[in-house]
Amino acid sequence: MKSIQKPIVIVGAGFAGMTVALNLKNLNPSLPILVVDSESKFIFKPLMYEVLSKEIRIWEATPKFANIFSDAGITFLKNCLTKISFKENILEFSDELKLSYQYLVICTGSIPNSFFIKGVEENCYFFNDFHDLNKLKSFLTKSQKTSSHKKLFIVGGGPSGIELACKIQDIFTDQFQISLIEKSNEILSRNKIFNREQAEIALEKRKINILLNSTVKEVSKTEISISSEDGITSLDKDIVIWTAGVKPNLSYLETDYITKKYGRILVNNNLQIENHNNCFALGDISIISGMEELPITAQVAMQEGKHLAKNLALLIQGKDPLPFEFQDNGEMISLGIGEASISGLGVTLSGKLAFEARRLIYASKLPDINESIKSASSWIFQKKSIFKKFF
Ligand SMILES: Cc1cc2nc3c(=O)[nH]c(=O)nc-3n(C[C@H](O)[C@H](O)[C@H](O)COP(=O)(O)OP(=O)(O)OC[C@H]3O[C@@H](n4cnc5c(N)ncnc54)[C@H](O)[C@@H]3O)c2cc1C
Repeated sequence: MKSIQKPIVIVGAGFAGMTVALNLKNLNPSLPILVVDSESKFIFKPLMYEVLSKEIRIWEATPKFANIFSDAGITFLKNCLTKISFKENILEFSDELKLSYQYLVICTGSIPNSFFIKGVEENCYFFNDFHDLNKLKSFLTKSQKTSSHKKLFIVGGGPSGIELACKIQDIFTDQFQISLIEKSNEILSRNKIFNREQAEIALEKRKINILLNSTVKEVSKTEISISSEDGITSLDKDIVIWTAGVKPNLSYLETDYITKKYGRILVNNNLQIENHNNCFALGDISIISGMEELPITAQVAMQEGKHLAKNLALLIQGKDPLPFEFQDNGEMISLGIGEASISGLGVTLSGKLAFEARRLIYASKLPDINESIKSASSWIFQKKSIFKKFF
């Protein structure tokens, strides 16, 4: 067994980082683990729609890191990584703190990608983190007090765009005239067929206008310009929500480590960064050689986190790491208040039952701390009869 003098440092405590830290501590309680995150709360992103619609309370989806990690006996530090010196095994942080590590795990997630389209950064709302959620919620709530039928555009026909469109329509009935803009010829083009069909039904039921084969060219303070086969059209807008894509959050990393083709860090199937066997990159920021088609999801991030915990335990015992394998457990999307669609592992489910099943599954995935146990149990007890039916 190798001795560990310096800590295992995990930067980014989202789905990947949290999973590595908690699993590794379980496997080897004596290991010194330091988790660093620039925020003080975990955000369970798949439940952001339910926070917007007040179907769940904000604290249920955003437990504090300090509570999660102190309960598990792991040290947590709130700080923002600004630089990695791989040669010296040193990390630098925004307050000029320097830390050395024996093993490093980076998993700093994604940020919205505006693809350099004019006016997007300045004139669009986003839906990627806690701050975006609060900003959007405040705009929508203020709008409710003024005139109805405000023109709301959602750019991106992926899961985020669809889920937001359905939720907003259900919360603010008739308050907004919602249009969904998608550049390809179908929505949810990379998702399961069953979920796509359910989403189409949900959008139609809510009379959401879908603009396919349409690309946003510019967003100004008052207008959105869209290019389609009819040419370029400029439409008045009250709000544009941008969900058209994400890019890895890697401002602290030299560009040499980022692949030109995918814009992410290439790792081998042990999740190691090339030429740095004691450094690992997980979740949205990385791409595994030979598994380039894996989606950018919490499911992948958590499976990678669990696998890396096992590999780190092996490495520390002087054993060889094992290659990562992905198991597709299916996908779930919420489709308005109290409705969802689930497809995976041979099961398809839609409507209210799917909504409750989705919440139960997510409750079981929330970090295992007092707060989440409380929230999970409150969901379960409230909906006991529905769960009985489901099981
Ligand atoms: C609205 C929404 C809904 C989603 N729904 C689903 C879904 O239903 N199913 C699914 O599988 N996936 C879903 N996803 C995708 C999923 O949330 C991500 O793929 C997942 O969060 C990636 O995990 P991660 O650990 O790589 O990054 P994250 O979970 O984003 O965590 C990154 C962490 O790094 C921290 N950080 C960033 N930069 C620094 C820095 N410089 N220094 C220190 N800390 C830093 C951040 O504060 C954050 O805590 C959704 C995403 C969004 C935005």
